[in-house]
Amino acid sequence: MRLAKLLEGKVVADKIKETLKISVQALKHAPVMASVLVGDNSGALAYVKVQSKIAQTLGITYQLHQLPQDTSEEELIDFVLKLNADSSVNGIIVQVPLPRGIDYMKICEFILPSKDIEGMHPTNIGKVLFGKARIASCTADAVMELLNSTGADLYGKEVVIVGHSEIIGKPLAMLLLEKFATVTICHIATSKAGKLEEHVRRAEVLIVAVGQAGLIKGDWIKEGAIVVDVGINRLNDKIVGDVEFEQAAKRAAYITPVPGGVGPLTVAILMRNLVEAVKVQRT
Ligand code: NDP
Repeated sequence: MRLAKLLEGKVVADKIKETLKISVQALKHAPVMASVLVGDNSGALAYVKVQSKIAQTLGITYQLHQLPQDTSEEELIDFVLKLNADSSVNGIIVQVPLPRGIDYMKICEFILPSKDIEGMHPTNIGKVLFGKARIASCTADAVMELLNSTGADLYGKEVVIVGHSEIIGKPLAMLLLEKFATVTICHIATSKAGKLEEHVRRAEVLIVAVGQAGLIKGDWIKEGAIVVDVGINRLNDKIVGDVEFEQAAKRAAYITPVPGGVGPLTVAILMRNLVEAVKVQRT
């Protein structure tokens, strides 16, 4: 029997979107998001569709710029520079995955920080470090919103993050430190050292962002923990996370479903970052 309450991203996302609609209406012009898609990766195309639909419901202008698969890194940088110079564009997102040979983090360095709605420009990442971010990584922020929705006070809590990527684990650790959580970050070396289980077992809040189905065993979950599973994996034609859901849900107080947890929230936060970018550009 499942004991955990479900942490559903849609519920939080709907609240954010309600507020955003009002903020967008209050702007003089509809904010413009330029979305750059290189090639025709099916995952990226699906994500673009979702973004475009939500943008439309919020009164945001969504410009899709589709570049050929054989676009070079230099050509993509030139394209980004053109969008930077276009004063009608408020926010830029470069969709991933990018074709081989294009370094995503390098591309992010060329996006103007004031138009970087994914929060991946080094300036915006640096501001997260100083607790002064107006635009932070969408996924890291989505996790923070989910934690916030539980009403839990993170002060002094044992928080364990599994996965230390630039887009999730690292910025998330900084956002959690701002709340005075005691943060442990696990990664591949933690697993190789055979210490992943012992860290997970003591987590009052567990956030997993790896991309390996079943990496976190359900019986490792501390009784009453909050579990946020960011992972997305395709397993036997089903989408699952990194945590063994059924077993974990018997022990946790809160757990995200996959799909339906973090995913629906990231797009809402992307749109919120766009509106924030408009405000940044005004100052
Ligand atoms: P990355 O591949 O960039 O990062 C994965 C991280 O997991 C790395 O830090 C890696 O460490 C670590 N790792 C790999 N194997 C192990 C292991 N056995 N034990 C512990 N740590 C391990 O992926 P992303 O951060 O981009 O994404 C992570 C997951 O989140 C993916 O499933 C992705 O699809 C999903 N995702 C979901 C989003 C959503 O909105 N729901 C948004 C973005 C991503 P190292 O680098 O040292 O090998």
